Amino acid sequence: MFENHVFMKSSDLLQIAATYGDPVYVYDSAKISAQYKRLTKAFGSVKQLKLNYAAKALSNLSILRLMNSLGSGLDTVSIQEVQLGLMAGFDPESIIFTPNGVSLEEIEEAAALGVRINIDNLSILEQFGSKHPDTPVCIRINPHVMAGGNSNISVGHIDSKFGISIHQIPHLLRIVELTQMNINGIHMHTGSDILDIDVFLYASEILFETAKNFPHLEFIDFGSGFKVPYKEGDIETNVEELGKKLGSRFNAFCAEYGRDLTLAFEPGKFLVSEAGFFLARVNVVKQTTSTVFASVDSGFNHLIRPMLYGSNHEIVNISNPKGRERYYSVVGYICETDTFASNRRISEITEGDILCFKNAGAYCFTMASNYNSRFRPAEVLWHEGKAVLIRERETFEDLIKHQVDVPELFGQAETATVK
Ligand SMILES: *Cc1c(COP(=O)(O)O)cnc(C)c1O
Repeated sequence: MFENHVFMKSSDLLQIAATYGDPVYVYDSAKISAQYKRLTKAFGSVKQLKLNYAAKALSNLSILRLMNSLGSGLDTVSIQEVQLGLMAGFDPESIIFTPNGVSLEEIEEAAALGVRINIDNLSILEQFGSKHPDTPVCIRINPHVMAGGNSNISVGHIDSKFGISIHQIPHLLRIVELTQMNINGIHMHTGSDILDIDVFLYASEILFETAKNFPHLEFIDFGSGFKVPYKEGDIETNVEELGKKLGSRFNAFCAEYGRDLTLAFEPGKFLVSEAGFFLARVNVVKQTTSTVFASVDSGFNHLIRPMLYGSNHEIVNISNPKGRERYYSVVGYICETDTFASNRRISEITEGDILCFKNAGAYCFTMASNYNSRFRPAEVLWHEGKAVLIRERETFEDLIKHQVDVPELFGQAETATVK
């Protein structure tokens, strides 16, 4: 399975599991760089391109530093992500704050740090513009286009909570005129999966049309939604075709607009999904009347996407890659249904084997929790042929760190010490 993987080898992964224990997340920096370069190259015809990595996909400081070193900006959705970005060395101007439903105070806090502000509703726009007319603001538009197939991850449709509806442009223009605020960018983020490039181009036309209302733009931000393959034969976004078509359309728009603007994107999954591997050990192989379960030392507390979105993460038995394939249901150790995969063909599994979950870079560690009072895993970065620990596995102290234990409440003398 890993034979044609030119980046990490399964022997590297096994070595990491042996050194750092399991479960563990592993990220291949070479794959992240390759994806960054691929997207940059696809939009080579555009004079000013800016990729702002969506931090929520994977927000470890070392990953953010890697992105910074590649020349990426940062797309953030909380003030804490802004702070992480600054800590990782990003200039404030290369961070954009694109939250949804946050308070005016949080937006003001981000603006005070000097990061770019993206506002996605008229109420906050009016309040922010009235108080800070001199701070430039980008606006998030909802073009009401479904670019993806799954209604959980298509955010451009009519009932979506994201963005300012294009039908409200007259009201938006009124606010801008009354407050005299400066709109420096237009943004959309239509959904998580761009499968049909023509649908995406159609949404872009709506954005260009909207852009004509604003004479002081610096950039147009097309959000993200680049689909990456999760299994063999999966459809993925053809970024080369998108780059060619959107690139030339963007250049034509700039000519019409009278000035070169920056074309921005905010890819998360595209940059980090395939660079990530999640390694877990098989505790039990259990034959029932209808299936064979392989239970690993993890669960949806560490990798929730299969249970939350029905995502298909390919699973490889790297301890026995050449074994005879059999059907397994791979499940976790959480006391709740937590199925990673049903009836999956995997090389014969023996208790103690290490299973590797692919596409574990995006929305995996960042969605991990302490459910069942389990520790969150360690994270390891594979960089220039070496494994570097970038997050320690949690300990019992982490679990109780913020609990306030009040034994006197129940007439008890003191906290028992845990050995
Ligand atoms: C989550 C998010 C992204 C990244 O989406 P991917 O599908 O991971 O590329 C980009 N922009 C915004 C505003 C987001 O909320």
